[in-house]
Amino acid sequence: MIFDVEKKDLKIGISACLIGQKVRFDSSNKPSRFCIDELSEHVEYEAFCPEVAIGLPVPRPTIRQIKKDDMIHVARPDGSGDVTEALQAYGKKVASMTQHLSGYIFCAKSPTCGMERVKIYSPEGNSLKSDGIGSFAKEIMEANPLLPCEENGRLNDMHIRENFVARVYAYKHWQQVYASGLTKHKLTTFHSHYKYTVMSHNLVAYRKLGQLLANDELSLHEKSSQYISGLMEALKIPATRKNHVNTLTHIQGYFTEHLNALQRKELCEKIDGYRLGLLPLIAPLTLLNHYLLHYPKDYLKGQSYLAPYPDSLRLRYAY
Ligand code: SF4
Repeated sequence: MIFDVEKKDLKIGISACLIGQKVRFDSSNKPSRFCIDELSEHVEYEAFCPEVAIGLPVPRPTIRQIKKDDMIHVARPDGSGDVTEALQAYGKKVASMTQHLSGYIFCAKSPTCGMERVKIYSPEGNSLKSDGIGSFAKEIMEANPLLPCEENGRLNDMHIRENFVARVYAYKHWQQVYASGLTKHKLTTFHSHYKYTVMSHNLVAYRKLGQLLANDELSLHEKSSQYISGLMEALKIPATRKNHVNTLTHIQGYFTEHLNALQRKELCEKIDGYRLGLLPLIAPLTLLNHYLLHYPKDYLKGQSYLAPYPDSLRLRYAY
């Protein structure tokens, strides 16, 4: 890890049912093993159940999203008990109190907490489409466009899980730097930490962010705000195997002069093994980190790409 953060200082918002609270309509929960058993070792959760918070009981009748007069309502299937405004107001309230969060994990498909693909019904009860956003989740995401957000189901995909956790740590790092009083030097230094990370996600963004920082016509405020938006957007783009290989090859170049023929061959084989899908990403990265220990390079030691989050999360072993 290129920056220090204690568990107590890394706060993630989460739908309460995902960490075992029995707050669902039928008094059940929807425990996420990753959230409860793994991520919780490194973060502290701030749990919210918007439906309970606005006064709905447990258990309670189900609610759904209903499209009526071009408006989305959250109500019981027969249209009664409309809680749209209450959920939106609570969402706005939570959004204003949670600027310190570094991520949010929503419960999928919920008319309240779903981040995307929420079912929408007609007043007659016909399923119209599945492109809704939970009323509460919408308020949180609109008020915090930089906030890394994911859903419990999607986090079972190791690529998506890795991407989310990497974004959470990058955003937390930014929050720390920003809170310490941003200067031009701090912004440039922060960017240098993320160069190879961005390269592995998107080469166009890599070039654009570099150009942005070189633009002296912008104020620090404008530049930093465009920078962090650009960075968080770039990190949302999945890092491809091809881009990882390109990034690994760049880093490999730093060690060429130090390695003998056998070591160079081994490193090439590890990168090639990853390129061909025969080895996980952790294989070439472990060797590169090993050489970094033996042949220290300050610039590389500061690269988030080589250590974006705690190793114990084991997120680069599966692909
Ligand atoms: S999905 Fe959201 S509103 Fe529904 S039980 Fe879970 S936390 Fe509460």
